Amino acid sequence: MKRRTVLKHEFVEHIPNKLEDGTLYVCKIFGTAAHKCCCGCGKEVITPIGPTDWRLNFEGTTVSLHPSIGNWSFECRSHYWIKRNRVIWVSQWSKREIEAGRSYERAEKEQYFQTGKVPTVPSDSLWNKLMKWLFNQ
Ligand SMILES: [Zn+2]
Repeated sequence: MKRRTVLKHEFVEHIPNKLEDGTLYVCKIFGTAAHKCCCGCGKEVITPIGPTDWRLNFEGTTVSLHPSIGNWSFECRSHYWIKRNRVIWVSQWSKREIEAGRSYERAEKEQYFQTGKVPTVPSDSLWNKLMKWLFNQ
């Protein structure tokens, strides 16, 4: 299987039933994006877009998703970022790191539901350290 390093994006009204390899479909109406796992395993990855889910950035000609795509439930356990239509591969997380990421997400969601504020990440947070660590590999 060949790992992909670039994606193209397509704005669609509905996510098609059959996804093309290497295409990130963005459905603005339903706030969802979908693509086939970039490792080539063919699994479909659905990423809801919203303040507590993924954030989609449209840079005019390219798109980025934040945070990273971690396909922990797939056999391939792929982990990558989509930045400006490029696929940036990062190492697979260990079980402990996945848990840390999940509990961060939980805390973020709780904050959102309690305060209605979209969470901001303090610069010295554990999350940022984790990100730095991932990118410096
Ligand atoms: Zn995969």
